Amino acid sequence: MEETYSYFEGKIIPAHQAKVSIQTHAFQYGTAVFGGIRGYYNPDKKNIFIFRIRDHFTRLLQSVKIMQLQFEKSVDELVEITLELIRKNQCMENIYIRPFIYTSSLQLSPRFHDVKADLAIYILKLNDYLDTKSGLKTMVSSWRRIEDTIIPTLSKASGGYVNSALAKSEAVQNGCEEAIFLDSKGYVSEGSAENIFLVRHGKIITPSISSCILEGITRRTVIELARELGYEVIERDVSRSELYIAEEVFFSGTGVQIAWVKEIDKRVIGDGNIGPITQKLQSLYFDIVTGNTSHKEKWRTPVY
Ligand code: PMP
Repeated sequence: MEETYSYFEGKIIPAHQAKVSIQTHAFQYGTAVFGGIRGYYNPDKKNIFIFRIRDHFTRLLQSVKIMQLQFEKSVDELVEITLELIRKNQCMENIYIRPFIYTSSLQLSPRFHDVKADLAIYILKLNDYLDTKSGLKTMVSSWRRIEDTIIPTLSKASGGYVNSALAKSEAVQNGCEEAIFLDSKGYVSEGSAENIFLVRHGKIITPSISSCILEGITRRTVIELARELGYEVIERDVSRSELYIAEEVFFSGTGVQIAWVKEIDKRVIGDGNIGPITQKLQSLYFDIVTGNTSHKEKWRTPVY
């Protein structure tokens, strides 16, 4: 990927030419929705597999619907454009695809009606976003996760990530790698850009949609794989103190993949090592996303 290309204003063009005006509506107000999709390079098969691309674009179009953005393309069209863009970039490595649909008019008042929206997509090389091997140091954020009555939490809305940025910076400035949000009721919600799971008494627990989470595609993947492995998975309210006494805690997300948590608010989780359930799920997840198993082939879209 020497010269990279992006999709911008209906065309594939050199990435450095994909620029917007400072008056762009979305730039002023965060009135955009976006996705984050990974492609894994498999050196034996000399191919890139995009993980659950249709599910990602389905969620993106749900975000469009929630926000009433004026955008007409279908999942099939979005998949086609993305595959064409990756091929144009001749990618042969692990990649991250960032599609977004943004209010592109140069208009002043913040709104979603009567304002033009456009699609843009760029691609980056990306290996680990957070460490997946040595365990993450985390803290419960002093910032609460946005709630659905403020910014719809099931939409991946750009403006909502001010909330994530505050929590992430607070965590890093306090010597941690990631933040854990509580929701407005005080229950555990999720990380700054990932869902959270814990293991108690051998059962897997994760906050439900009513805790203002983004409904992660990796979360859905983990739930399905864990149930296939015979574990009970429960979606329910989670108290902060349950985190401290959990046997295992891990994050799930496209960026973070499956990453285990070693410490929360200076409490060591379990015995301070990756737990057996997390380990099993993580290794199965990596085999599936990279195409090192024939299992769940329907989740992988080959690029070439
Ligand atoms: N929560 C938030 C706030 C996120 O930004 C993400 C990343 N998209 C996730 C959860 C995980 O979602 P997914 O598994 O679909 O990447």
